Amino acid sequence: MGFTSLGLSAPIQKAIAEKGYTEPSPIQAQAIPAVLAGEDVMAAAQTGTGKTAGFTLPILERLSGGNKPRANQARTLILTPTRELAAQIYDNVEMYGKHLPLTSTVVFGGVKINPQITRLRQGVDVLVATPGRLLDLYNQKAVSFKQLEILVLDEADRMLDMGFLRDIKKVLAILPRQRQNLLFSATFSEEIRDLARGLVNNPVEISVSTRNTTAEKVEQVIYPVDKKQKAGLLTALIKNNNWQQVLVFMKTKHGANKLTKQLEAEGIKAAAIHGNKSQGARTKALANFKDGTVNVLVATDIAARGIDIDLPNVAEDYVHRIGRTGRAGASGKAVSLVCSDEIDLLNDVEHLIQAHIPRETIEGFEPFNVLLESRPLRPLKANKKKKPKSEHHDGQRSSDNSRGHKPKSKNPRHKTDSSGNRNSNPGGRRRNQASTGNQKSSDPYSATR
Ligand code: AMP
Repeated sequence: MGFTSLGLSAPIQKAIAEKGYTEPSPIQAQAIPAVLAGEDVMAAAQTGTGKTAGFTLPILERLSGGNKPRANQARTLILTPTRELAAQIYDNVEMYGKHLPLTSTVVFGGVKINPQITRLRQGVDVLVATPGRLLDLYNQKAVSFKQLEILVLDEADRMLDMGFLRDIKKVLAILPRQRQNLLFSATFSEEIRDLARGLVNNPVEISVSTRNTTAEKVEQVIYPVDKKQKAGLLTALIKNNNWQQVLVFMKTKHGANKLTKQLEAEGIKAAAIHGNKSQGARTKALANFKDGTVNVLVATDIAARGIDIDLPNVAEDYVHRIGRTGRAGASGKAVSLVCSDEIDLLNDVEHLIQAHIPRETIEGFEPFNVLLESRPLRPLKANKKKKPKSEHHDGQRSSDNSRGHKPKSKNPRHKTDSSGNRNSNPGGRRRNQASTGNQKSSDPYSATR
């Protein structure tokens, strides 16, 4: 089935053809007709499935029929957790809408608010936003939603993981009741279903899974190694295998900076990307990584989530991000350097993916402290309800966004380390499926290429 049968008009089809797409992806084939028909949609889809076009294309189609936005009004609101994801969705909106007389803009924290206020004055057909900055703008009367027709919550599970639930509820409270709602989430935990209950009406439910197919394409391997040897082993792996594009996940910003320096001292072109870096520095690091000027991108998991690096072989994390590698149909390799005290984390990952990951050792890097055998696999149980969290990781909270103050929390889960990273799981135990990816990809020092 081509795009022609989906009911999209010529200007949109032209943009799709220019992008080189010939067939809608499974999520697009299901979501586009439902959104065009004005239905609410609840879709379980990961990044890499083409979900962005799945909601953007029919939204643009619907908007092309209506009234123009008045000053400070937005006809569609797309909420997404990170700046990178927001910028990426905005690029998609602009690209697919380039032959239509529609307007769009993107707002997120960490950059000046005034240009955003100025831009919103004219009103927009599509507003892409992170929740914190959006609320700041609303409170400053820079945006209002009297003309709002469509709301999209993208990566809803990630938004909850990052502590945006309260902000999302605040946003919902300022929107008109009569609207079309589209909810996209990689996973559908109890929390997401709770959120959905107050949001979508009689939704069309769509589920596309990439995990099995992509997991087959991503070769996974574990190198048991002593903690202090990790940087050395990573250097050896990169050099010996001549890896050209490597994405490394670290737990802390400090760790990411330190490793970047160590790699550079070894003559490897590396850049760190995390929440303490300015938006300009992040964008530059990504661009350099994409064009090959930088071979290794060292990221904290939070900074890396949602980045569309569009590489032939990147697997983002072990749980719901491994699907990234499959997007270009190419193969990739997910490497984890695991030391003896990370055995619990490893057991959790293997339990979640329901497979034991093969182990290898490299001569000269055999661990002195032995990594125990993995636990036998047990069947997965249904998700348990997760305790709500109240803070964000990425400086986008509505209350502190423009000032950068983080409210103190008495909750030990929310303690920050000296570099400002929140220790989201001080006991080292996995709370649930959704947070495990966070732990796994960053903690056992995963490198993916
Ligand atoms: P997303 O899941 O929205 O992040 O999209 C993943 C990637 O797939 C992006 O790089 C898109 O440009 C690409 N993409 C989206 N739809 C299609 C399609 N129908 N055919 C080929 N590539 C696509």
